[in-house]
Amino acid sequence: MKPLLKLALKRTTLFKWRLFHVSRRFGAIRKDADMKGVNLNRILKTYQDSPLFDEAYREVFFEKRDIQMTSKVIQKIKDKEIEIVTTDRFSPLAEPILDEISHFGDLITPSMPEKEILKLVKNRLLKKKMTLFCFTCKDYFGNFIVENIIEQPICPKCKSKYLTIFSKYDEDSHKILKKYAKSQKLSRDEKRELQKLQSVADLILEHGKKAIIF
Ligand SMILES: [Zn+2]
Repeated sequence: MKPLLKLALKRTTLFKWRLFHVSRRFGAIRKDADMKGVNLNRILKTYQDSPLFDEAYREVFFEKRDIQMTSKVIQKIKDKEIEIVTTDRFSPLAEPILDEISHFGDLITPSMPEKEILKLVKNRLLKKKMTLFCFTCKDYFGNFIVENIIEQPICPKCKSKYLTIFSKYDEDSHKILKKYAKSQKLSRDEKRELQKLQSVADLILEHGKKAIIF
């Protein structure tokens, strides 16, 4: 599996970023080089087959990837021990993250973004405007920017920690929760969406703000 990975890796943005960081660390690229204006393909071409290239490979392989575990998981998928379930939509938690990651090109394919990219994604998520809804008193308690939300958010009215969160601009969730609060009948799709919002609340109850960010 490794040679295949190595070949595929070269083409990923993930690897190119790693090469950029390695080059910067080794002084081949200015330390203050701005990540925004970087031509990753040019870096790749310039340092092809150089020790920097090998170092970037080494880091991605041995530090960032658990190849053994990946092979095991692939084997288990082949043996049908792990089932792959396809759904028509991403979960409410995955959606904003995938949305952010997709701006970074093919990073969506390796599915395990690098630390640096995660940090960028996280910073962008932190600026998102979200609405909090309390499932205990069935009421909204406002819009927040993620970074201003406290570690374990609590409903100001009933002190419950059973809260869900969704994008301020997610009109569907607003509509469904309004209907739910008024005990109006929900369609099958709406019920499914409500369940997702409840799973988000379960996660927040258990993990607090961490569940919102990751
Ligand atoms: Zn409440």
